[in-house]
Order: sequence, then structure tokens, then C-alpha cells
Amino acid sequence: KADGRGRLCFFEPEMDARMQARRRLEMDLRRALVAREFELFFQPIVEVRSRRVTGLEALLRWNHPQQGLVPPDHFIPLAEEIGLIIPLGEWVLEQACAHAARWPGDTTIAVNLSPAQFASRGLVDAVARALAAAGLDPGRLELEITETVMLQDTDATLTTLHRLKALGVRIAMDDFGTGYSSLSYLQRFPFDKVKIDRCFTRDLGQTQQSDAIIRAVAGLCQGLDMRTTAEGVETEEQFRALARKGCAEAQGYLFSRPCPAGEIPEMLARLSLAACAAEAGMLGAQ
Ligand code: C2E
Ligand code: MG
Ligand code: MG
Ligand code: MG
Repeated sequence: KADGRGRLCFFEPEMDARMQARRRLEMDLRRALVAREFELFFQPIVEVRSRRVTGLEALLRWNHPQQGLVPPDHFIPLAEEIGLIIPLGEWVLEQACAHAARWPGDTTIAVNLSPAQFASRGLVDAVARALAAAGLDPGRLELEITETVMLQDTDATLTTLHRLKALGVRIAMDDFGTGYSSLSYLQRFPFDKVKIDRCFTRDLGQTQQSDAIIRAVAGLCQGLDMRTTAEGVETEEQFRALARKGCAEAQGYLFSRPCPAGEIPEMLARLSLAACAAEAGMLGAQ
């Protein structure tokens, strides 16, 4: 009745239930930010040539008091819709930079930005503030954006990208190959890195098509002076196939699942040993 034109409005019980669930989730999300129920997990990114860890990606988790660990796909879309992604995203940036400042050497930290966050006025300042507060070298921060960001108003997008790069941070295109006109984005936007979506990694070493796609994307990016990372590497077979395709980095369960900050030292130690063993194995084979 609210639209006052005497129209009838029917609600399927199912739809009503869905809207109620959504409203509950919305309230829960707002509460969670105040109650500090969010936590960052970290997953290593490995250099293919040496198997050494070059950086870690921060992946957001929600420690829900009743539901346990909730993955980001279940709440980030709604957080975007209701604007909560702005304070939540700033929290992620602050936390990620603070953690990275404690890591050894020049290990980088990758942070995902959502389209709404990217389009927000305060983004560049928020990034600068997070870096300054942590005392982190901007060259160690990598911001990951998806193609959806590129679909927005391109002049403003380009301006923001250049302002971010002027801070000294690096920009990666995430989930490459899953959207529409990726190639034109590569030409127009100044990416430092391209992350090839895991749907292309799945059949690596098993089908000619996957091998050809990875090889072509890696070659293309090399020509554009962009590094490539293959996402979702789960098996040694996939990894070996990667090594022959000119893809610089790999990320996936083969090396480690995303883990809480407290487990990072142990994870890095384990991977460092594995890298040494692989190197020794290679030397032995020569
Ligand atoms: P993404 O940035 O593409 O992150 C990679 C996703 O793939 C992560 O899922 C990771 O756990 C998963 N993954 C990594 N290796 C493997 C593998 O070998 N096999 C399989 N099957 N999966 C693997 P997760 O953590 O559930 O995150 C999902 C998406 O949520 C992320 O995709 C990213 O787009 C978004 N996200 C995560 N954290 C944040 C955040 O802090 N802010 C924003 N805006 N988005 C975030
Ligand atoms: Mg990502
Ligand atoms: Mg991705
Ligand atoms: Mg993704």
C-alpha cells in the first residue's frame, strides 16, 4: 500500500522469509563490526621458479558467535549494498598493513578491494593512512581489484588507479578471465600484476586448452610488463605444468590454505623448508 496508487502487492511466503533473513544478516553485520567479530586469514603466494613465498593475501573471515567461520562470499555482497564495506574495508586495510609490518624482509601483503570501496571518495586517503599507521613501505602493499571495478566510470577509475600508484602501492587485477572484455582493460589500466582465475588452473597439465590459455595470458602479460599469478593451484601436477608456461607466481591449497595470523610463522617456516628441499632435489638431479 505504501506506493499509494491502490496497487496490490503480493508477497510469496518464501520471498518474505528471504527478506527477513536478509534483514537479520544486515543487523548482524553491523553488530559484528562493533563486536570485532571479523578476522583476517592469510594465504601465501609463491614464486614458481624458486618456490619461495613472495607475499601473502589477506582474506576476510567472520567469526559468527552461532554460525562459526563465515566465508566472505556470504556477507561481502550485502556489506557492499548497505555501505558497511567502507568501514569494514578500512579495518581490513589497517589490520593487513599492521600485520605485514611485522613480517620478515620484503614480503608483500595483498588486500582485496570491492567495487563500492574503490568508488568511494575516501579510498586513497584510507590507504595512505593505513600505510602510515603501520609504518609499512608502500611498495609492499598490493591492492587487488576485479573487473567489476573497471566497468564503472572509466575516467574516475583511471584517476583513482593513478593516485594509488602515486602512493607507491601496486595494483593487481583479480580473477582475470572471468568477465567480459579483459583485454581492453589490460591495455588501458596500469596493472602491476594479473591473477589468472582458478577456473583456468583446474585442468592444467591435463587438457591442451588450459595449458594454451595460461601460456597465452602469461605471454601477453609479460609483453605488457605485468606479472602473472595462477590462483587455485592444488596439485603438484598443476604446479609443474605452470612452471613451463611462463607464469611467475602461484597461489593455492598446494602450498597452504588461508590461515590465521598466529599460524603464519609456522607456515612460512614449513614453506621455506619445502623450497630448500625442492632446490636441493633439483641440484641433485643435475
Ligand atoms: P579472491 O580474492 O579471488 O581470493 C581467492 C579465493 O580462493 C579465497 O576464497 C581463497 O580461500 C580461495 N582459494 C585459494 N586457494 C584455493 C585453492 O587451491 N582451491 C580453491 N578451491 N580455492 C582456493 P575466500 O577466502 O572464500 O574469498 C573469496 C573472495 O572474497 C575473494 O576472492 C575476494 O574476492 C573476496 N574477499 C576476501 N577477503 C576480502 C576483503 O577483505 N575485502 C573484499 N572486498 N573482498 C574480499
Ligand atoms: Mg584476491
Ligand atoms: Mg581471485
Ligand atoms: Mg574471487
